[in-house]
Amino acid sequence: MTATLIDGRAVAERLRERVAARTAELARHGLIPGLAVVLVGDDPASQVYVGSKTKQAAAAGLRHFDHRLPATTSTAELIALVERLNAQSDVHGILVQLPLPPGVDSAAVLAAIDPNKDVDGFHAVNAGRLALGQDTIVPCTPLGCLILIREVTRDLAGKRAVVVGRSNIVGKPMAQLLLQNDCTVTIAHSRTRDLPQLCREAEILVAAIGRPKAIAGDWIRPGAIVIDVGINRITGADGKSKLVGDVDFETAVARAGAITPVPGGVGPMTIACLLMNTVNAAIRSSSRDVGPLIGLS
Ligand code: NAP
Repeated sequence: MTATLIDGRAVAERLRERVAARTAELARHGLIPGLAVVLVGDDPASQVYVGSKTKQAAAAGLRHFDHRLPATTSTAELIALVERLNAQSDVHGILVQLPLPPGVDSAAVLAAIDPNKDVDGFHAVNAGRLALGQDTIVPCTPLGCLILIREVTRDLAGKRAVVVGRSNIVGKPMAQLLLQNDCTVTIAHSRTRDLPQLCREAEILVAAIGRPKAIAGDWIRPGAIVIDVGINRITGADGKSKLVGDVDFETAVARAGAITPVPGGVGPMTIACLLMNTVNAAIRSSSRDVGPLIGLS
């Protein structure tokens, strides 16, 4: 068997088109969704991410507000900025790019964000609402993974799902989303015993570990849906640097039913979901009836 490739670039493009269409409708109601992006320091990878976020926000018709601060910015100064953005009525989403420089209390900064503007979905209030199964802002990467899974099947009820990784930004919210969709969910982590056997039970396998090719092809249940969140830079046999996932794609593709490639799978979905979260935050914030939220499709 050769797995169907789940084309994250194409799915993300379609989502961005839906976001742009909804944003154009909102503009007719006089509502322009606004995203504030806060970047502290000069980490090159963060600069690239932030550049992509603001570029894609502008392309979808959102207003964006860039705040670039020196690495010497203190926790108190950052919290003061976040509080100003909380109060700014044309800002509907606030994103503080992580990681923050050492010495900044990241948890305190993230906790200062108004949960209604927390478009990353990292605030304890939003994590709590997700765990309670309430309508909330869901972290972008797991939301993107769910959309990709739904591209393959809408019939998730009763499926055995294994999420490898228990971070607050990927693994845990991913497991909550699958649970909400009536999967039977197991969360695995670095202390899990017999991970290969556990993975072999998974009809849906989500790998969010951060270790190149950690999941071997023969750990995949034949026909499974495999979502590879990992982004790992390695040096290939040719001496060139390349990106690989947490799953050994070359061997997994022979057993899986559907699989996301790296790059071009989960990665493009994250920013598209950020835009969706921002537009939905703007819709929720409106005191007027401006129509429905953007749904999963
Ligand atoms: P993280 O915070 O480092 O968490 C990694 C998780 O993997 C932890 O729960 C850890 O277990 C578990 N783990 C580590 N080694 C393991 C092993 N050998 N077997 C089983 N579990 C193991 O990472 P993260 O932020 O969730 O990110 C995970 C990966 O996704 C990274 O490659 C990251 O770059 C990528 N990512 C991609 C996107 C995207 O847009 N595509 C977004 C976010 C992250 P313990 O808890 O026991 O330590």
